[in-house]
Amino acid sequence: MPQRCVFCTLDMPPADGCICRDCFADLPWQQASCARCARPLPRPPADGVDCATCQLRPPAFSRTVAPLEYRFPIDAAIKAFKFHRRLFYARAFAQILRPALESLPPGIDAVLPVPLHWFRRTRRGFNQSRELAIPMAKALGVPMLWSVRRRIATPYQSSSTRAERRKNLREAFEVRRSIDARHVLIVDDVITTGETCEQLAKVLLAAGVEKVSVLALARA
Ligand SMILES: [Zn+2]
Ligand SMILES: [Zn+2]
Repeated sequence: MPQRCVFCTLDMPPADGCICRDCFADLPWQQASCARCARPLPRPPADGVDCATCQLRPPAFSRTVAPLEYRFPIDAAIKAFKFHRRLFYARAFAQILRPALESLPPGIDAVLPVPLHWFRRTRRGFNQSRELAIPMAKALGVPMLWSVRRRIATPYQSSSTRAERRKNLREAFEVRRSIDARHVLIVDDVITTGETCEQLAKVLLAAGVEKVSVLALARA
């Protein structure tokens, strides 16, 4: 059975995934970004040099890979996936993320989707980060980590200031069982300020994890 490209609805062979070659090439790929936080930069940084923001306030994670800029058509696709349960996008997102795994540092031994508060998960019916993380854990051949919980339902990022977000996130995550991993990969859909991953990474390091990397579809 042929299937259709999720972006242009062109019929294509199933072996090609679910984004056609043209749409894949036309995605808003990040051109230059900070290796540490994936913040877009006007030109590629020198090897091993973090952006000014990371130098000023070094994040708890050591590497972030976000292959796309958060703009059309990926912003619309992520919103349809999250808020209208267009779950068929999950395979398209995996097609985008799988090659990005090669840009991550070696030694990842567990994958952690950004936990969603139970109330929001119940309302939405699923955790979008979990759907992105499962195929990545499978591709890396490592287990998923289920021992971190979100205690507080933080407000939607777009509706609060940076200071408010940080305050809300400070106590948001909790480790429920000891973590048997040294290098954890956090998976999220979109990185807006990096604050969620920062707080989550801090919690992981405090629980004895040695290194944290981050993978997201897009960076705002
Ligand atoms: Zn297409
Ligand atoms: Zn940076």
